[in-house]
Amino acid sequence: MKKHNFYAGPCILSAYTLDNTLEAIRDFAGTGLSILEISHRSKEFTAVIEEAAQLFKDLLDVPEGYHVLFLGGGASLQFCMVPYNLLQNKAGYVDTGVWASNAIKEAKLFGNVEVLASSKDANYTYVPKGYNVPTDLDYLHVTTNNTIYGTELRKDLDVPVRLVADMSSDIFSRPIDIKKYDLIYGGAQKNVAPAGVTFVIVKEDALGKVSRAIPTMLDYRTHAAKGSMFNTPPVLPIYSALQTLKWYKQLGGVEKIEVMGKEKAALLYDEIDRNPMFVGTVAPEDRSIMNVCFVMTPEYKELEKEFIDFASTKGIVGIKGHRSVGGFRASLYNALPIDSVKVLVDAMKEFQKNH
Ligand SMILES: *Cc1c(COP(=O)(O)O)cnc(C)c1O
Repeated sequence: MKKHNFYAGPCILSAYTLDNTLEAIRDFAGTGLSILEISHRSKEFTAVIEEAAQLFKDLLDVPEGYHVLFLGGGASLQFCMVPYNLLQNKAGYVDTGVWASNAIKEAKLFGNVEVLASSKDANYTYVPKGYNVPTDLDYLHVTTNNTIYGTELRKDLDVPVRLVADMSSDIFSRPIDIKKYDLIYGGAQKNVAPAGVTFVIVKEDALGKVSRAIPTMLDYRTHAAKGSMFNTPPVLPIYSALQTLKWYKQLGGVEKIEVMGKEKAALLYDEIDRNPMFVGTVAPEDRSIMNVCFVMTPEYKELEKEFIDFASTKGIVGIKGHRSVGGFRASLYNALPIDSVKVLVDAMKEFQKNH
């Protein structure tokens, strides 16, 4: 049976990415060797990492003065690397969920952290707005898409300090005004590649401003100077990332991807709002187009498990909500076809008819 993959991460990848990755595992760039058994300093792999960084810049319109890096350690290592490299005295953080809280915890090891706003009071079902950003911060950190709760900040903030964003789960879902940011990072395993590589877009001007010594591997300047090749980079995920980026270019770039993403999300949110058995968990204006969180209305609450089982008979997988929210989470990443969303919506309609 065809599967409809709604997992939150790692998650669905395009057939283009999977097919080309498989091919490179068998025979990489006509070398007669697998990409798994060739030097990362070979001219063939050097071309891959350079093209991936260039396509990242092209697709996101990254201006001069920024580096695109491919690192290890996941977004979680960035929770530490960001303050290590940028926090001298005080940083501001917005607390929008588990990932933001993890970032806050790490930053506190390096300096003063002001949590400027939090939506914890409402189990992170909205994105705080209208908070004041002091001008004496080294930077402000935001999480643009809160993967677990399904809230999203779909705009680039204007703030009087350096802006840092965790874009793990919404990178390449919309055009970004990169010049408003000093640093953007994310684990690639949601919209870019299999797990194992982390992307960082960092402004040259943001680096070298703190007085502390930084271990070599945790210093962005090390990786910027060596084109992400200071040590052996995660070769295979980078190769897959390149395939995804090529596919994004073929689709028509991020403007086109945003239109497709909004269409998919509208289809599902419309059904959630129409169907009396389901209800969304997030403030409507902050609904994510990447992760759609919903539950069953109180009178049908005990049918949640039954709906997951029913959906699985249609090939739908990965819709169980995160344990801190419950209910359902359907992740609609870029590689998910709209037909899969239609199958889910049809399953919701059919389930309603059956009850
Ligand atoms: C998945 C996720 C993370 C964690 O990423 P790792 O690569 O597993 O460390 C951090 N932030 C957000 C927003 C995420 O969605």
